[in-house]
Amino acid sequence: GTRAKQSSVSRDRYRLYQDAKRPVEDRIQDLLSRMTLLEKIGQMTQTERTVTNHTNIREFGLGSILSGGGSAPAENASVFQWDNMTNYFQRAAMSSRLQIPINYGIDAVHGNNNIYGATIFPHNIGLGCTRDSDLVERIGTATALESRATGISYVFAPCIAVCRDPRWGRCYESYSEDPEIVRNMTSLIDGLQGRAPPGWDGPYVESSDRVAACAKHFVGDGGTTDGINGNNTEVSYDELVNIHMKAYKDAIDKGVTTIMASYSSWNGVKMHANHFLLTKVLKEQLGFKGFIISDYMGIDQITDPPGVNYTYSVYAGIQAGLDMIMVPFAYDQFIGNLTQMVKSGLIPMSRIDDAVTRILRVKFQLGLFERPYSDNKLKLSVGHDWHRQLSREAVRKSLVLLKNGIYPGSRLLPLNRHAKKILVVGSHANDIGLQCGGWTIHWQGGFGDITPGTTVLQGIQQAVSPTTEVVYSERAKKSLIKDQDFDYAVVVVGEPPYAESQGDNTNLTIPLMGTHAIRNTCRYVRCVVVIISGRPLVIEPYLPMMDALVAAWLPGTEAGLGIADVLFGAYDFTGKLSRTWFRSVDQLPMNVGDKYYDPLFPFGFGLSMGIDGTRN
Ligand code: BGC
Repeated sequence: GTRAKQSSVSRDRYRLYQDAKRPVEDRIQDLLSRMTLLEKIGQMTQTERTVTNHTNIREFGLGSILSGGGSAPAENASVFQWDNMTNYFQRAAMSSRLQIPINYGIDAVHGNNNIYGATIFPHNIGLGCTRDSDLVERIGTATALESRATGISYVFAPCIAVCRDPRWGRCYESYSEDPEIVRNMTSLIDGLQGRAPPGWDGPYVESSDRVAACAKHFVGDGGTTDGINGNNTEVSYDELVNIHMKAYKDAIDKGVTTIMASYSSWNGVKMHANHFLLTKVLKEQLGFKGFIISDYMGIDQITDPPGVNYTYSVYAGIQAGLDMIMVPFAYDQFIGNLTQMVKSGLIPMSRIDDAVTRILRVKFQLGLFERPYSDNKLKLSVGHDWHRQLSREAVRKSLVLLKNGIYPGSRLLPLNRHAKKILVVGSHANDIGLQCGGWTIHWQGGFGDITPGTTVLQGIQQAVSPTTEVVYSERAKKSLIKDQDFDYAVVVVGEPPYAESQGDNTNLTIPLMGTHAIRNTCRYVRCVVVIISGRPLVIEPYLPMMDALVAAWLPGTEAGLGIADVLFGAYDFTGKLSRTWFRSVDQLPMNVGDKYYDPLFPFGFGLSMGIDGTRN
């Protein structure tokens, strides 16, 4: 009677794709066979959180939401506010006809840098100087936890660009100018997603406390002419493959789930419209089975041949091989256009099914169908002391000692922690925002106390003996410095924060306030200069007056602790330059192996304090 009836009802409701015991490929096929065209195209759409709500997530069956540039639900939003927001979207998706969870994406590029109170790690340029792929893997694990804690299952990292020209505003997102170092650092993917078992072929995510990673930006983003963001990359196919594409092979071997197309062009063809590179090379030759995502409004930039309309741009992008479209705003227009083109036969259904298959594959791998919401206990991981200790370790290992002593035997480092009176000076000495750089809380980063952390000044104050007097001044006033009896000075200067095109820069000089601080201090007091920057800067004119020089890159929230660890000799310097340090911008773009290139500090350079660190 009733029993039989109940079981027949549940058999009717049985949906194979919801059965976690079934193989992923079977689940994909089952789900795909149930989807309407609108539901398929909805899955291919990723839009901004600001333009979506419960109704249109359900109505369009949207596949993914993003916080572009990390946009937060509110100023200083807590982990709980983030989680509430992502849950709200997820509930909407789970109430749609087929209950397909959304995959929320964010730029967690040095930790989950969008969340107030999260652990911020050094940017990639500094990690490249550590040469420590195990460390980078652990950073990936920590970032995955701090992301999943907020219901975010998709992270637009790592950037595996091989930056060949430091004038590029994204140079700090690149681990190195050397493809071998970039290859090594794809270990971030192991951390973000978990390590794929040997022989695994395809996208991989280990468990519900890992995330889908995104290797970006395919391909040649770091090779654009004059280092201009999104410009043309004019290189031969061999150079493209051997310099810019190498690390993608490693990423795929590690099971990277997604790859983002680059804004740049290769020899005049926009990557977003490049069928040869996206489909023939990446999907067919390299065997990539995850999905390709377009960059923010990237298809809108497909404007070749001149005069083409948006419909053509959508056509060209989808036919080139893009699977998920980051269409931040007018997603209804995108959906309408694509639907029409499929209905009229211009775009074959097989292309749509291929894209949706790839997108669903990653969702099944993420375990989102079983656990669409974040696990409350993960919230404890955000900004946890373990992660901060890990970041501190990364800071220590990323620092590169470039000079120590003006003449033999005169080295300044390690600093004496028992000194009577020391000076800490400079724009970057006491500023969390500046030491974190772009992609921190805000897209372009910010100044001052944008999130909790330890400044260089605070790190020094904690490291010196209780009897040491630490005098701090943001500006180096001559009157302050000249007439006082400081044992030594720590001068901390560098670049303002920036991201993407806004960081493109043709002169690469230290901002004036910084050079003043160096001049006014180092003339009168023995000084170590610590440079906080996203790339090498023009330093040669000031080098003779410095007793010591340290490149600290963009070290993140734990900068003060990690820098003090090394300056005071608790640890030695081990970092090696991941980039050639040029003398002047006339030497750019760099060219590894060029015998006429005469750098200030060669690629791989880095002193330790255990040796005589003088240079002439
Ligand atoms: C950047 C990407 C980023 C995306 C989403 C784009 O402008 O090029 O690297 O993932 O924005 O914020």
